[in-house]
Amino acid sequence: MPRRVLVIGLDCASPHLVFDRFRDVMPNTSRLMESGSFGLLRSSAPPITVPAWTCMVSGRDPGELGLYGFRNRLPNRPTEYKPRVATSEWVQEKRLWDWLSDAGKSVASLFVPLTWPPTPVRGHLVSCFLTPDLTLPWAFPTSFEHELTNRFGPYIRDVTDFRASDKPRIYDALKKMTAQHFNIARYVWEQKIPDFMMFVDMAPDRFHHAFWSAFDPAHPRYIRGNRFEHLGREFYGFLDQNIGALLESIDEDTTVMIVSDHGARALHGSVCINEWLRDHGWLKTHAQAADPNLPHSTSIHEGVVDWSRTKAWGEGGYYARIWLNVAGREPHGIVAPADWANERARLKEELLGLVDSAGTPIPVRIDEPEREYRATRGFAPDLLVYFDDLAYRAAGTLGHGQWVIAHDDRSGPGNYDECNHDWDGLWILSGRGAPREGRVNGARIYDVARTVLELMETEAPNDLLGRSLVSLSADRH
Ligand SMILES: [Zn+2]
Repeated sequence: MPRRVLVIGLDCASPHLVFDRFRDVMPNTSRLMESGSFGLLRSSAPPITVPAWTCMVSGRDPGELGLYGFRNRLPNRPTEYKPRVATSEWVQEKRLWDWLSDAGKSVASLFVPLTWPPTPVRGHLVSCFLTPDLTLPWAFPTSFEHELTNRFGPYIRDVTDFRASDKPRIYDALKKMTAQHFNIARYVWEQKIPDFMMFVDMAPDRFHHAFWSAFDPAHPRYIRGNRFEHLGREFYGFLDQNIGALLESIDEDTTVMIVSDHGARALHGSVCINEWLRDHGWLKTHAQAADPNLPHSTSIHEGVVDWSRTKAWGEGGYYARIWLNVAGREPHGIVAPADWANERARLKEELLGLVDSAGTPIPVRIDEPEREYRATRGFAPDLLVYFDDLAYRAAGTLGHGQWVIAHDDRSGPGNYDECNHDWDGLWILSGRGAPREGRVNGARIYDVARTVLELMETEAPNDLLGRSLVSLSADRH
């Protein structure tokens, strides 16, 4: 029988929870670990969903892909400061399903981030959570949309408002999404019989952002005995039941891989990067936009920034991206290109002295894209900044009156984003052709593409990052 490969993607699934804390409620996953190999999977920098999954399935780094976050500034469009949500049209590199289609294999790519709009493959593709609207094409071939809707109801792309406070509604919705995605996956695996299938469920990510403080004792808002505390164990058990049901339809010719794009960790608050830049003279607002007149969480893209006097600004998210306002590059740039390097070095030096309102230093990691990546395509930020090893996210909005806040600037009052992403996701490899090595150290997200191509006996382009996890070497332990 021909070999088949099934990749189960669990966005944000935490290795610490799967391998250790909740392993007792995950018998199916645990069995795969015992019969194969597993370990931490170091994410891309940044460990953000859209670049991370795309790095995983392309073997290219975020700079090579030109993907630095969910939203990116468009190259060759210097009239815009504001970034836009990425789409599959931005992906210039081939991904696993493209190479395998080219090699004559049949493939299925379901819900993998950054696959909207859908692209042709030798098989089936369903677009991801970034599908804006179900009236737009969301599957390939188009007839597949009707087939799925008839069997499984309207396609659940995502859980809306997962940072809101109505937790029971969120929990119910994300279980429905997981169930539908696994049901679709099983249907496609059994009925379309692809040689290679990969699907990604976003529910673990949404679950963590909504519930992390309920079950992580290290979280500043954790309260022992809170009414949602049991949900961590329950949800991971629910994931495992779905994995178990899907595994019923695989045979000994199948290799199974479970992967996550990054992990999760307690979020302690947000660094208001543009407040800080303004207070340090890098960003200027118009006179009428001075505090305390500025409404809470005012976007810098709503006309408050005086670009003609601004030297640098930042975009928020799980980390901060900072650009200098360069003459000739930005629409109202004022930093001379000849001064760019010096100004960036000065800004970097100042950022390393970041303190919160009480004067407590916040450790900062600052990456320069041209050093971090093999190429810098698209519109790379000038600096990529991580706060206290991701204990803090970056708030890009103004109107907070301080540099560090305890909440998230996107949530409503009293609502919190409970977690940030963490550097390590996970991988588990089991079944036909998988080494039985137990726990293995040192894997990186870039290793997945080569691993799948080796399993599928398809040659990988020789300039891909990473190395195959099938041919494990002793130094990995
Ligand atoms: Zn993710």
